[in-house]
Amino acid sequence: TQDYTDALAMFRSAVVRASNRPAILYFDAAITYAELDRLSDSLATFLIERGFAKGDRFAIYLQNVPQFVIAIVAAWKAGGIAVAVNPMNRVREIGVLFADCTPRAVICHGSTYEQTVAALDPALRPQIVITTSALAFQTRNDPRLFAEVKPGRVAHTADFETVMAEAGKPTPPPRSGANDIAFLVYTSGTTGVPKGAMSTHGNVTFNAQTYRDWIGLDEGAPLLGIAPLFHITGLIGHVAAAFITAAPLILAYRFEAGVMLDAIEEHKAAFTIGAITAFIAMMNHPSAVPAKLGTLTKIYSGGAPIPPSVVVAFREKFGHYIHNGYGLTETNSPSHVVPLSREAPVDPASGALAIGVPVYNTTSWICDDDGKPVPIGEVGEIVTQGPMVVPGYWNKPDKTAEAIRAGRFHTGDVGFMDRHGWFYLVDRKKDMINAAGYKVWPREVEDVLYTHPSVREAAVVGVPDSYRGETVKAVISLKPGATTTPEAIIAFCKERMAAYKYPREVAIIDDLPKTVTGKILRRELRG
Ligand code: ATP
Repeated sequence: TQDYTDALAMFRSAVVRASNRPAILYFDAAITYAELDRLSDSLATFLIERGFAKGDRFAIYLQNVPQFVIAIVAAWKAGGIAVAVNPMNRVREIGVLFADCTPRAVICHGSTYEQTVAALDPALRPQIVITTSALAFQTRNDPRLFAEVKPGRVAHTADFETVMAEAGKPTPPPRSGANDIAFLVYTSGTTGVPKGAMSTHGNVTFNAQTYRDWIGLDEGAPLLGIAPLFHITGLIGHVAAAFITAAPLILAYRFEAGVMLDAIEEHKAAFTIGAITAFIAMMNHPSAVPAKLGTLTKIYSGGAPIPPSVVVAFREKFGHYIHNGYGLTETNSPSHVVPLSREAPVDPASGALAIGVPVYNTTSWICDDDGKPVPIGEVGEIVTQGPMVVPGYWNKPDKTAEAIRAGRFHTGDVGFMDRHGWFYLVDRKKDMINAAGYKVWPREVEDVLYTHPSVREAAVVGVPDSYRGETVKAVISLKPGATTTPEAIIAFCKERMAAYKYPREVAIIDDLPKTVTGKILRRELRG
């Protein structure tokens, strides 16, 4: 059973339970649940009065600022869909996205107003554009710091302060049902086409409950937002998880290891979820002392493989264990987790950590290329069915039919299940390297590289090779102060793995390319 099927009802319950407790902590500012309720009322009223209607899209093109959360709640109060837009995107990229989801309203930073307007299709106006300043909540009493209003280009343009002056409660639109869309979340698009996963109120509330009940979040315990809010981990693992536990969400504009370490200490964060690279960055930060992470006992990593040696080093440094959680945008954050009470078992053959077990009401199979389940222990594609699987992609029936067949979502990830029911991820199907007919999974090679004392981050890709067809290349960055050579790294790997697997080429660079979510971008290293 689900406690809620409507994400707004889940938020309203938090307002009742925690009206005077902080909902958002942002540097020096604290916004209580009652204030968040009032601010989102104002924004929803503003939208409704300018023609925003049920089912309309409200694009949120912001960093991790309080206005992001206010805008989500306002979108729901106005009966609309919150569209999460990557704040790193430029005009061309947001143009593609806006053409796909045709937003009625957009909220953006004042500094990105011009590109927001340029990306909106003139034929589809009137639209509503609201600008806001990252400093709005630190400098509440200084209106000069609000973004300048530039009227005339779109039907309604306003700065955030004007919007907030809007009084009153919005006329409530028809209540959202479990099947109404709460979020459109665009996959980062390794395939090139951005696809908007339609995350329903039922999906959002179900996975909020997964966080509370499987990961074990306590009522009112502060959550640290290290993932970007536009990503599914941020939307569900930060915002929805905070709402279901009526807890404060700690935000800090964007990820910066030192700022996060200070925020954990100052606000006594109890839980966080993010990419493993974020934890690696915190570990290597000069101000990383164990006392900083004293309260942060519930730590999950999701979205990318966890090198086991990083978990060991993190525990040695801070005394805390990093749990694994697995999911995709299409599963609305986790479909598999390692419950808080357990440590992930290690696969004896590969040394990989389990990604977890399917959460309740969820079934996963390991399938061959024809979609037939394979025996226990054998490798195949992970296919999942459960209440967190989104109904499909916005405007893309073909892509939806490809990915979700008979209610089962084909993840594109390759893995296996052991006889106890634990799932393990081998790698992404499309990242497999074919070296003279031998399958090499980059993750396995990366795990070995991470055990080298000088290696900070590692990525392994296949590069063209006239003899083998493809060969294994490693790109690494080094820990502060460490030195090594490509030859030494190759020798290190050669000693630890089969001849067809070890990297023939090694490049040492300062920093590996990453998505804003902290995922290492293997595709950029193939050239
Ligand atoms: P796109 O699908 O457009 O390429 P993306 O990969 O960034 O974008 P996400 O939905 O953010 O999309 O990522 C999902 C992928 O992340 C999974 O398919 C899987 O490969 C990887 N992943 C997620 N959790 C884990 C985990 N715990 N361990 C290993 N890999 C994980």
